[in-house]
Amino acid sequence: MTTNIQNAIARASKIKMTVKYLGGRTYLVITPEAHKYVVRFETIDGQRYGRCNCKAGVARMACKHLAKAAAVDTGIRNSQGH
Ligand SMILES: [Zn+2]
Repeated sequence: MTTNIQNAIARASKIKMTVKYLGGRTYLVITPEAHKYVVRFETIDGQRYGRCNCKAGVARMACKHLAKAAAVDTGIRNSQGH
């Protein structure tokens, strides 16, 4: 995980967003303003990559939606024993 994503997670933890698990490695992030973004993750060579369909995510920036979903993704994968 890059420092960028770690910083984004730290920021995201202060913002109340809802993350819905859509199955596979796909998450729906709902902001307090009721904006909805879809975040997808894939693991290539042991590195996790995520994409969000918001403006920042499309520009390949580590946005807060990606960070929030990443925290949930980590929790799900840990509970599965991976
Ligand atoms: Zn985003």
